[in-house]
Amino acid sequence: MTASCYYCGRLRSSVTDPLELLAWSVEREGVSERWLCHVCAKKHVRDIEGKLPAEYW
Ligand SMILES: [Zn+2]
Repeated sequence: MTASCYYCGRLRSSVTDPLELLAWSVEREGVSERWLCHVCAKKHVRDIEGKLPAEYW
C-alpha cells in the first residue's frame, strides 16, 4: 500500500530516513487516510491546527 503526502504528493516509500518517517502524520477521514510528510508537517502545522473542524469524539 502506497501512501503519499496530500500536500506535495511525496511518496512515503521514497523516504528512507526513519526519523523523517516518524515525522509523518496521518489523519483518518472515514475509510481514507490523509498523510502529511515531514516537510509539509513542519510547514503547515499552524494552518492545519487553525482549520481543524470542531469534532467530538
Ligand atoms: Zn508533503
